[in-house]
Amino acid sequence: MEILKERIRKEGKIKAGNVLKVDSFLNHQMDIELFSEIGKEFKRRFADAEINKILTIEASGIGISCVAAQSFHVPVIFAKKTQTRNIAGDVYTTKVQSYTHGRIYDIIVAKEFLGKGDKVLVIDDFLANGKALEGLIALVEEAGADLVGAGIVIEKGFQAGGDTLRGKGIRIESLAIVESMNEATGQITFRGDTVADGMEIQI
Ligand code: 5GP
Repeated sequence: MEILKERIRKEGKIKAGNVLKVDSFLNHQMDIELFSEIGKEFKRRFADAEINKILTIEASGIGISCVAAQSFHVPVIFAKKTQTRNIAGDVYTTKVQSYTHGRIYDIIVAKEFLGKGDKVLVIDDFLANGKALEGLIALVEEAGADLVGAGIVIEKGFQAGGDTLRGKGIRIESLAIVESMNEATGQITFRGDTVADGMEIQI
């Protein structure tokens, strides 16, 4: 998705630990017109699929999913992160290791909102090692619902999550796949780029 890649190139900041910060339009300040285009692009890519629920995870997934839901006309459920140990039996729960903070936390979804017969599209902001997505998929499985696929805004293609999950047969549609990012120069390349920074490709 070209306008998204353009924003990442212009405004993305590369931090230690392979963290890409896009706080100016995605993770802190949110560009809702861009979110609207992102939502329409998810709808276009999953146009063939029957979807009756979007599942995401707090916090950054919520805004994106809510705007996307206006294209899908379905409700959004967000998995809550919790550190409460004693979890009542009326929730599905699994553990997720946080990429940005390193710690492990529980995520929960109330059983009343997800169950057999649901056809679920999972949406998230980033895909790195795949732990958040695996956790959300585990909740869908625990609920006996059907996973349609995952819509990801930014996948870091040089980390293992995308390939591992696609290898398991999961349909993942990522709108921008970062192939490399250089902390020293600030340069970011994307999968599918054919011309790098004005260099002509010699055929
Ligand atoms: P994973 O579980 O795939 O390793 O990481 C995905 C989750 O970690 C996302 O939900 C996102 O919140 C966070 N994350 C992973 N990599 C990045 C990154 O480079 N930048 C930002 N802003 N968040 C990231």
